Amino acid sequence: MSQDCTMRVPFYRHDLGPEELAAITEACSGAILTTGDWACRAEEAISGFTGLPHCVALDSCTAALHLALLALGVGPGDEVITTPMTFAATANAVVMVGARPIFADVSPLDGNIDPASVERAITPRTKALLPVHLYGVLCDMHALRDIADRHGLAIVEDAAHCIEGQRDGYGPGDLGDCVCFSFYATKNICTGEGGMLASNRKDLASRVRLLSCHGVDRTAYDRYCKDYVHWDMPVLGWKYNLDNIRASLVPSQVKRLRSNLALRESVATCYEQRLAGLEGVDFPRVPHGCTSARHMQTCWVAPQWRDKVLKGLQDGGVGVAVNYRAVHLLEYYRKVQGWKAGDFPVAEAIGAATLTLPLYPSLREEEQAHVLTTLAAVLDGLRAGG
Ligand SMILES: *Cc1c(COP(=O)(O)O)cnc(C)c1O
Repeated sequence: MSQDCTMRVPFYRHDLGPEELAAITEACSGAILTTGDWACRAEEAISGFTGLPHCVALDSCTAALHLALLALGVGPGDEVITTPMTFAATANAVVMVGARPIFADVSPLDGNIDPASVERAITPRTKALLPVHLYGVLCDMHALRDIADRHGLAIVEDAAHCIEGQRDGYGPGDLGDCVCFSFYATKNICTGEGGMLASNRKDLASRVRLLSCHGVDRTAYDRYCKDYVHWDMPVLGWKYNLDNIRASLVPSQVKRLRSNLALRESVATCYEQRLAGLEGVDFPRVPHGCTSARHMQTCWVAPQWRDKVLKGLQDGGVGVAVNYRAVHLLEYYRKVQGWKAGDFPVAEAIGAATLTLPLYPSLREEEQAHVLTTLAAVLDGLRAGG
């Protein structure tokens, strides 16, 4: 991450401003610093934006994934089908509940999990599907819901990249049992660390809320702001609640989601036009019927050049990332879970070719031009044998 401090064009730039400063100052001046009224306001804001009635503020998307699986009763002996083209956290959440992540390969067009591969991966032990809306493009949730219904499976959506995306009239969480959002430092809403679970299912959200604070049936807010009532602990829970301090940063960012998406959309459109004209570069396509949340602009280069392109961009002052090398090839998933090269050829090919360029609302035209000229120059150099 240190690259970001010195880069001419940083990989990411948050846009927290006067509204967030005012909110966090108010939160810090209040009596309750942990989960309380600001966490409620954050939940209401996400509920209002997504139309999902039941939201639980949590301290990460990983926590939301973990608790969603626990609340659905997924545990040892169970399998959950997910994508290898994601951040490690997605599959890790399955391991955290004692179940086994089973990967299914992805589409070469957009990198999203392929429903036909999902269908082939189902066994009598399968309990849930865990799709990821990669880079902001919703998976084909009608196809996944149909598979889930035919096999009696739950769906937990990882929408860390996709609060704003739409597909054929539905949004994240509309067709799944619940959806998990991230407010990590580089996401479209950021609180440093933070996350939220949202759902149409009241039972599921209530269970997650209980599990998010030790399994204790009264919150600190209840204990201190109302008449003292003894609390009990009906089940064993975790410590995943979101505090008021970080929650205070959410509501005003929700108000900017649409306008920020419009800004990223124009940056992304320009990237796509320019990348289409660069020899030796391809990029994932937004399928017909989708409005991408435009969380990330990735592109694909020849695998033997990818690391050189990363270095060339960084040397040229451009912040970069890799989203992602296929999860099943990470050491833990190879050595402990037994996956190997060749298991998911499409995800492996994307993972070997992909790199991510800076994309955020405040990216200036001349900064984007610098990214593109640097990329073109690096590729020219490689073609010339440099
Ligand atoms: C960032 C991210 C996560 C984890 O989010 P945290 O809030 O950091 O736990 C999970 N899945 C995907 C696809 C992500 O990009």
